[in-house]
Amino acid sequence: ITRMGGVTTDITKRKALETDLAEKTKTLEESNNDLQQFAHIASHDLREPLRMVASFMQLLERNYAESLDDRAREYIGFAVNGAKRMDALITDLLSFSRVQSHGRAMTAVDSDALLKEALENLAPRITEAAATIDHTSLPRVLADGPQLIQVFQNLVGNALKYRAPDRPVTIRIGATQSDQIATFTVRDTGIGIDPQYHDQIFRIFQRLHGREAYGGGTGVGLAVCKRIVDRHGGRIWVDSAPGQGSTFAFTLPLAP
Ligand code: ADP
Repeated sequence: ITRMGGVTTDITKRKALETDLAEKTKTLEESNNDLQQFAHIASHDLREPLRMVASFMQLLERNYAESLDDRAREYIGFAVNGAKRMDALITDLLSFSRVQSHGRAMTAVDSDALLKEALENLAPRITEAAATIDHTSLPRVLADGPQLIQVFQNLVGNALKYRAPDRPVTIRIGATQSDQIATFTVRDTGIGIDPQYHDQIFRIFQRLHGREAYGGGTGVGLAVCKRIVDRHGGRIWVDSAPGQGSTFAFTLPLAP
């Protein structure tokens, strides 16, 4: 009887602990959702007044050109650039918060067609960089299509951005298949990344290379990729060394 009494107490204690844990998890999830919603609304509401500031500055520059001296024009230029940078940051923050809130169901998608769409969106930048792009045919996977386009776009976009200044960049996109899993790779011949930073760059706001030299990034792109790949139950990583180019890889479930 004593032993059985002990067992009953253990079960009661365990149940209490489980209830407590479930409640705490729920609270954490709720505050996470609140935070996400806050980030989303704040970003939206910040954008309108910011665009107003930028467009009135540009109007001032255009319509009052004769009455402005060089210094005034320079100051207006700083203000417009600042507003543009903030606008880019807001766009990235919105895409970060949208990964969860606007995520669609996973369906069987043709990743080849989605890559083509990503490359079309990047066409002006590909031309500007005079980049060579190669890709093998890619498999059908179980994914949220628009989010997969975004992953391709961010990775190829970075390969275009972090290219060596004195060499044309070649970007190769491919995939291998095994055990119901597709492993995609985006390989570039750019400046490369020191191995000590390979984990860090997937965290939000982490940047290694100079903003000015490489065209004003915000440090959100790879964090968005990681969030998307995590949402699909996949993994994302990089293999790279300075001066050796980079290979970004991620996994997704193959379509059944
Ligand atoms: P952003 O490009 O806006 O700075 P990302 O999150 O896309 O932000 O990338 C984080 C950092 O990782 C970049 O600032 C850059 O230093 C490094 N990085 C990303 N992709 C590459 C690449 N293909 N080659 C070299 N460095 C890269």
